[in-house]
Order: sequence, then C-alpha cells, then structure tokens
Amino acid sequence: MNHTSSIMLKKIKLHWQILIALVLAIFFGIMFPDMYKIDEQFFNNLKEREGYYHQLAEVVFGDDRGKVLSKRVFTEKLKRYIDESEYHKTSQLYIEAATYNPYASKVIWMGTIFLRGLTMLIAPLVLSSIVSGVANIGTGTNLGRLGLKTFGYYITSSLLAIFTGLLMVNILTPGAGMNLPVPEHQQQGINIGDISDTLIQIVPTNIFQSLSENHMLSIIFFAILTGFFITRIRKAYRIFLTDMFNAFFELMMKITMFVIKFTPLGIFGIVVGVVASQSDLLSLAKSMGVYMLAVASALIIHAVVTLPLLVRYVGKSNPVKHFRAMQTPLLTAFSTSSSGATLPLTMTTVEQKSGVSNKISSFTLPLGATINMDGTALYECVAAIFIAQAYGIDLSFGLQLVVVFTALLASIGAAAVPMAGLVMITIVLTAVGLPLEGIGMILAVDRILDMLRTATNVWSDSCGAVIIAKSEGEILRV
Ligand code: ASP
Repeated sequence: MNHTSSIMLKKIKLHWQILIALVLAIFFGIMFPDMYKIDEQFFNNLKEREGYYHQLAEVVFGDDRGKVLSKRVFTEKLKRYIDESEYHKTSQLYIEAATYNPYASKVIWMGTIFLRGLTMLIAPLVLSSIVSGVANIGTGTNLGRLGLKTFGYYITSSLLAIFTGLLMVNILTPGAGMNLPVPEHQQQGINIGDISDTLIQIVPTNIFQSLSENHMLSIIFFAILTGFFITRIRKAYRIFLTDMFNAFFELMMKITMFVIKFTPLGIFGIVVGVVASQSDLLSLAKSMGVYMLAVASALIIHAVVTLPLLVRYVGKSNPVKHFRAMQTPLLTAFSTSSSGATLPLTMTTVEQKSGVSNKISSFTLPLGATINMDGTALYECVAAIFIAQAYGIDLSFGLQLVVVFTALLASIGAAAVPMAGLVMITIVLTAVGLPLEGIGMILAVDRILDMLRTATNVWSDSCGAVIIAKSEGEILRV
C-alpha cells in the first residue's frame, strides 16, 4: 500500500470501515458457502459420540463417501431420516463433523481473535468501572436526599426501559427460527441452574477464581462492595484507592478503544463465518431487520410514551415543551453517539431553556451521562434475548431476570462514548452462558442503534433533571 492510500484508510471513519467490512464479508460468505465433506474423518468424529449418530450417518451418507455435498443436499438427506422435533437438536452434530470450508477458515480467525480481545477486557473493565463509579459517587458530595431521589429515578427509568425492550423482543421474536449452531465450547454452559443457584453464586468464594473464570455476577458484587467501602476508610487510603481505580479504569478504557479499532477486521471474520454457514440468507436479513425494529420500537416507546408520562405526572411539567427545548442536544447525541460529548450542550440547554437550576443540573447530568443509560440498558436486554433466540436457547424465567439485572449493571458500567454498550453486552452474555459469537451479528448493525440509544440516554438524563428540580420546589420554564 502506498503512502497516500494508507493515509486515506486512516481517514475513513470507523463506522464506514465497519460498513465496508460488512459488505465485503457478506459477499465473501456468499461466494464461499460452507460445504460438507463426507470422508472417513466425518464418520470417525461421529463414532466418538455416544448414541446412534454414527449408525445413522452410515445409513444416510454411506453412499456419499468421498463426496463434498452442498448444504442443501446435506440437510435434505438428513431431514429424510430425522424428524422435525429432533432435527434442531441433533443436526448440529452432523454439520460440525462434516463442515468443510477452506476459504472461510482463512479469515474466520480474525473474528476469533477480536472476540478474544473483547473477552480479555471483561473482568478488568467491569471491576475497575464499577469500583471507580461507586467510590466516586460516595466521595463526591454528601449524597443525602438529592442523591437518593436521583438514584431512584435512574434505576426506575432504566428498569422501565429494560422491560419495554423485553416485551418488544418477546413479541417480535426476531431470532426465532434462525437456528444458529451453538459453538461446541458453549454447550455445557447453557443450563446454569435455577434462580436460587444463580443467587447463591453472586457471592464468590474466591474472587480471584471469579475473575479468572469471568463470573460476572460475583465480580459485580465484589466490585460494588469494594467501591462502597473505599468511601468508608481513612481519608489518605480512600484518596489513594479511588485514584488507583480511576487510573485503572482509564487504562482499561484506552485498551478497549484500541481493541475497538480492529472492529472492521473482527466483523469481517465473524460475518464471513455467519454468512457462509447460513443456507438461507434472505431470512438472515429478515431477522436482522426485525431485530433492529424491536430495538428501535422499544426505544421509541420509552422515549415518546414512558419518559413523557414520568415528566408529566411525577415531574408535573410539560414534556412537549421540554422536548422542543432539547432538540439540539438530542440531535447531537444522535449524530455523535456519545452522551459524554453531548453533556456540555445538555447542561446548558436544561438550565437555559428548561429552567433547571445549576445546582440540580450539575449534580444530576454528569452523573446521569455516565450511569443513567436507559437506551443502552434496553439495548443490552433486547440484544441478549435476540442472541438466545437465534441460537434456539430457551432462557428460563430466572435467567431472564439475570439478563434484566445485568443489562442494568452493564448500562451503569458503560462509558458515555460510541459503541460502549456493545462491549458491555459481553457481561450479559457471559452471565447467562450465551455464546459470545452472537455479537458478530449484532455488531453489524450496532452503529445505527447506537445513535438511537444515545439520544434516548440523553433524553432520559434531561427528563430526570426536570423531575428532580421540580420535586425540590423549583419553578421551571417547561
Ligand atoms: N454510545 C452510548 C452513549 O454514549 C453508550 C452506548 O454505547 O450504549 O450514551
């Protein structure tokens, strides 16, 4: 590559790079779909399994020895012998034993490395972000009444958002019928017990083991405790530890941003794999469309119905007027995908146009920008359930609750920068034992959804400021 073209490549914005990678990957995957090789190794792979798989394979594919079959022929043959109800469960074994794709395997590793890079960051990122978040809140101001109200609002609005998302993704079921193959390493992890087990496991017996095995709930639990009690120790130590965790968090964010730079390559590898293994691309595109619809419609319901109702009835203010005042910050949030970058605008607008005092806005808005992310919380939940549906994994009621809880925490932990929510989804997925490979699909359309959820995040922060200002007896302009 010559000098000018390498400079040009650097100048292309990340989301364009992602889009280009996506288009190339789809093209590549279509050109080189998975094939199925019926050789001795195929039969041997199945022989190692318990059950009749090997015998059945002899019956179905005995005459095809030495051939390479297309997906259509391969699955049609299988379907002749395995009935519908068994098919989803067992077909994967045959498919894995026979898959043959010399072209795709040359690029899929890029996706694998990218996912490993993200996974590598989960434990340190979550630990540092939660400890530093909790410690900073405690040391900043005397929390008191204002703090309690603010937190009450953050948690309530985020939970309302998550439940709206949960409802929409269950109604629209975007992942139904996709039947993606569950990766081998994931298969044992799926049935992780019932709810009481999950609750017990929140308390780790050994935090280092939890860290090394990415046990999200225990890490979060330990991090909250650590952050909280940092605020309760001697001043010199408190300052030292808060600084240390802040520094650690900043460092982890830098590394995260570095890994994110490789998203286009990662996407390319992952999407080639997904497309090559899909026999029915139209239905894949349809599922992704419905998924985007589920996220977008839930965000819109939350922003246009739920939050205005809260402003109207809890905040006793006019949501339409407030919305008009907020137009510029909302458009900025939408186009930058960063509530952090929008914060200065949100603050001036909420003060000057909606009439909230500086005392309230300077307390609620910066805090809100970092921890109150309704849009992100909703997105985490919809994305996780969609991935479960796509892999045909039934999440029990208990596990759905874990999704709700971790989606809330992920949104609190997510930084106010573009694509932060995407990294955090790994927490939700690991907590309920869903395959991280699922991120491959949602990565592709993340950027557009990021714009919508960031605008929702900022809108919710501003509604919170209005509600709290009003509850403190302020006279507003909205
Ligand atoms: N981009 C979002 C924000 O800054 C965070 C996210 O990725 O969900 O609010």
